[in-house]
Amino acid sequence: MIGEIGVIGEIGVFVLGLCIGSFLNVLIYRLPRSLTLGGRSFCPKCKKQIAWYDNIPLVSFILLRGKCRKCQFPISLKYPVVELLTGVLFIGVIGGIRVIGAIGVLGYFAIVSAMIAILFIDLEHQIIPDELIAIGVFGALGVFLPSHLSLLTSNLLSAAGASLFFLFLHLITKGKGMGLGDVKLVFLMGLVLGFPKIIGSLYLAFLTGAIVGVILILTKKKRFGEHLPFGPFLVGSFLTFLFWGDRIIQWLTYHFF
Ligand SMILES: [Zn+2]
Repeated sequence: MIGEIGVIGEIGVFVLGLCIGSFLNVLIYRLPRSLTLGGRSFCPKCKKQIAWYDNIPLVSFILLRGKCRKCQFPISLKYPVVELLTGVLFIGVIGGIRVIGAIGVLGYFAIVSAMIAILFIDLEHQIIPDELIAIGVFGALGVFLPSHLSLLTSNLLSAAGASLFFLFLHLITKGKGMGLGDVKLVFLMGLVLGFPKIIGSLYLAFLTGAIVGVILILTKKKRFGEHLPFGPFLVGSFLTFLFWGDRIIQWLTYHFF
């Protein structure tokens, strides 16, 4: 689809991604703290309201060299990272996924936006807000309902299977291994990816989670048995299979099956 919209269109999509990323930063800060989403942004240190010209995605962070204009309190690198990531993934959606129609594109924008927010909230607070799962599910309906109704039905089975498996893990580990948030997150993943990509992405999540867990224990950043949020690994694996899943499955089928 990238050929159809041209370079100007691509830049437009990237800027849209930066702006949505800026809004995601608000969600990431306020959702876990049960704050309202309205009202102006303020500096977490000096509480001064941030002027519009200091709130331009990416640009303001660079111009302010990552510090609050008033009190010089460092602004977390997380803010520009979320903005940039959203911009890049939006470009990825229009350039790297077979999408039908504008509603499909908007659906994928909603899905990747929800996933970015889930990644950063789970990393910091070990929770996955239901609102974000709902945004992702609505996005999936936008992707599949207009022209892929049969695919939606079969993907629902993948979603149910993945979440039942995680519910089982949640129950046998008495909630210590997997949270209910993870159960809902893999439902969304199955709904979007379908079979067999959901299997590959869950496998990748367990693999990367185990590798990072071992590294954290060896470097004494975490103790054995200490909780490590699994959401970021699920989101990373989901995005990997969203953009490269077809190629990965093709490669695996060619070499191993
Ligand atoms: Zn300040």
